[in-house]
Amino acid sequence: AAPLVVAVSTSISARQGLLIRDRANFEGARNLDAVVFDKTGTLTKGEFGVTDIFSESRYANEELLQLAAAIEQNSEHPIAAGIVASAKHQNVSIGRVSDFESITGKGIQGTVDGQKVNVVSPGYVNSNDLSYNHNRFNKLSEEGKTVVFVLVEDRLVGMIALADIVRDTAKEAVAALKAKGIQSIMLTGDNRKVADWVAKQVGIDEVYAEVLPDDKANHIIKIKGKGWKVAMTGDGVNDAPALATADLGIAIGAGTDVAIETADVVLVKSNPNDVVTLIDLSKKTYRKLV
Ligand code: ADP
Ligand code: MG
Repeated sequence: AAPLVVAVSTSISARQGLLIRDRANFEGARNLDAVVFDKTGTLTKGEFGVTDIFSESRYANEELLQLAAAIEQNSEHPIAAGIVASAKHQNVSIGRVSDFESITGKGIQGTVDGQKVNVVSPGYVNSNDLSYNHNRFNKLSEEGKTVVFVLVEDRLVGMIALADIVRDTAKEAVAALKAKGIQSIMLTGDNRKVADWVAKQVGIDEVYAEVLPDDKANHIIKIKGKGWKVAMTGDGVNDAPALATADLGIAIGAGTDVAIETADVVLVKSNPNDVVTLIDLSKKTYRKLV
């Protein structure tokens, strides 16, 4: 009888928007202690819009956007899409770039009109001791905005703030997991203040922020070290090692190919609350087997 139950659950799961890629790990979903969530693109829609631009130099705001958009054309990060869309919306002409390079978990770099231009994280700026208006930065971060900095020839010339949209379904997921006694944890590369702001919106108490891509997997190992069974939910290239390390890797359907190919289950509807659907389905399916 066992294979029949599993076959039925496969068609049910497909109908509910769950793509099960690894059945053994899916089975483990009924015993989870914690679900770790990436922030950008997972708890949030990953649809950034530019909200504020501040110059810290002779460059006008429009020029800052122009420089940033030129390099971001080459990046797949949601921040990049937000900056390029904003430049197009404002009819800013976007220049050509050579020598494009991404600096994993920290930003990007390229040459625009013979000048080296970077768009980078607060972490990058702080570790290179570049000065900027901290009051302004803090205020934006406390509003939940992601701030990136524009550098020309390694000099900081301005900051660009972007806002993302928190998924309503993320809050529902965290509440439903809590009711089942399952802990929700956030793991993000973004700034601490932004991470805390989103965590508060969705009801998550445990937050790991400013985590570099390689360290995401290390955090999963640490959480597993408590003897916990852990799921990781993410959408990005940077989440793939953590998805592979977790007992159950869950990818957001709208995420990158790498995340989807690494995951055990794909949430086809990109709805974080389907983490709860999959736990319930795992329980129903395998209860009948034993
Ligand atoms: P997340 O977990 O938020 O997806 P990432 O590891 O992808 O984080 O990125 C961490 C940080 O590095 C971002 O919050 C941003 O500050 C910076 N960053 C990454 N890619 C870019 C980019 N294309 N443009 C500007 N900043 C970037
Ligand atoms: Mg992400």
